[in-house]
Amino acid sequence: MTDFGKTLVEYLESRQAFERMVILNDERTGLEASVVIHDTTLGPALGGTRWYPFATRTEALIDNQRLARDMTYKLALAVGEDTELAQAAVSFGGGKAVIRGQPTQDKDKRKEQLRAYAALINGLAGRFVTSVDVGTSVEDMITMKEVTKWVAGLPKEMGGSGDPSPATAHGIAWGMRACLEAVFDTDSFRGKTVAIQGIAGKVGSILARDLARQGAILIGSGGLNQSAAQKIAAEVGAKLVPPDEIYEQQCDVFAACALGGTLNDDTIPKLRCRITAGGANNQLWEPTRHAAMLQDRGILHAPAFWINAGGVINVAHELHPDGYSQERAFADVKRIYDRGRTIIDISRKEKVLPYAVAIRLAEDRIRKARRAA
Ligand code: NAD
Repeated sequence: MTDFGKTLVEYLESRQAFERMVILNDERTGLEASVVIHDTTLGPALGGTRWYPFATRTEALIDNQRLARDMTYKLALAVGEDTELAQAAVSFGGGKAVIRGQPTQDKDKRKEQLRAYAALINGLAGRFVTSVDVGTSVEDMITMKEVTKWVAGLPKEMGGSGDPSPATAHGIAWGMRACLEAVFDTDSFRGKTVAIQGIAGKVGSILARDLARQGAILIGSGGLNQSAAQKIAAEVGAKLVPPDEIYEQQCDVFAACALGGTLNDDTIPKLRCRITAGGANNQLWEPTRHAAMLQDRGILHAPAFWINAGGVINVAHELHPDGYSQERAFADVKRIYDRGRTIIDISRKEKVLPYAVAIRLAEDRIRKARRAA
């Protein structure tokens, strides 16, 4: 393993603890849920609720812990001291919740289960604030709001921040600019080729429109809904390729905006890009090894928890003391660019993977806050 990889292993192996875990097995509604609060040094833990049919309880809990830890890093990095949020004395720790099972489409049963789950969140007395994630919707947050105030991700009509995807895509574009500057000495997309995996998705499609407006040449791939992919590709003038062929496209930036784990042993050797920077959470199948593998291939990899933080930054702004303001929220989303420059500069100076630098910066902030407390 390279020195880059070793440094990362040391970081990850020494930091697996979490503050609190609460499990609910509600016989009345049949709900099985867990909340993991990873770290609240910087503030209440913020994190989405994932409703997913994990095969086993262990699988659900392991994923819950990993996702909660990622939220700690994401928020510690994103809501730095220079942000609008921090200036209003608002900052967040990391947590995540998982409801295990197939989300029911029976509206009444769903509401009943969500109310039971919201009561569990109430029991945490503000230490955990949740919002939308895979399997949950804005409507679910509205239902939960009847029971608990510790819910964000509400519609704009209710004073909320609405769909987080535009902010996520906006942040990715800013993060990509930091990467372009580091690799090509320009922050312009003009004439740069970007391959977007998941071009028809909520994040992928907004990103594609934004980059097309800025002069990027686009290649895209879609999932099961190929007609949606064809439609957006035609709109932005992208070349659409079959899902398996997206990796080998000659491009400047490969943007994974579909599922997690698509950067792995099979796909990394195929890549013909200089940068990987996309929205998908957990893009690296094995973070340690695959971040190093990309580095060894001369590819600059933007850690997901840095570059896709726009959505959670936007949601976090619902908890600003003066209420949600898109202007303030997007000013903080833009800071993803500044974080990127810092991460990449340190990475180059110290010859440490950007992934490890991002974790270290987040941990340094938490440690500093702990000492000051
Ligand atoms: P989405 O479900 O709207 O989009 C995903 C798209 O990928 C879909 O169009 C799907 O058809 C497509 N897809 C699935 N398998 C594919 C494959 N093998 N090849 C190409 N396309 C494939 O989800 P989204 O909200 O756009 O999120 C995309 C990713 O970004 C997810 O990993 C999500 O966890 C992450 N993310 C999203 C947000 C957000 O604000 N929406 C925030 C942070 C992270």
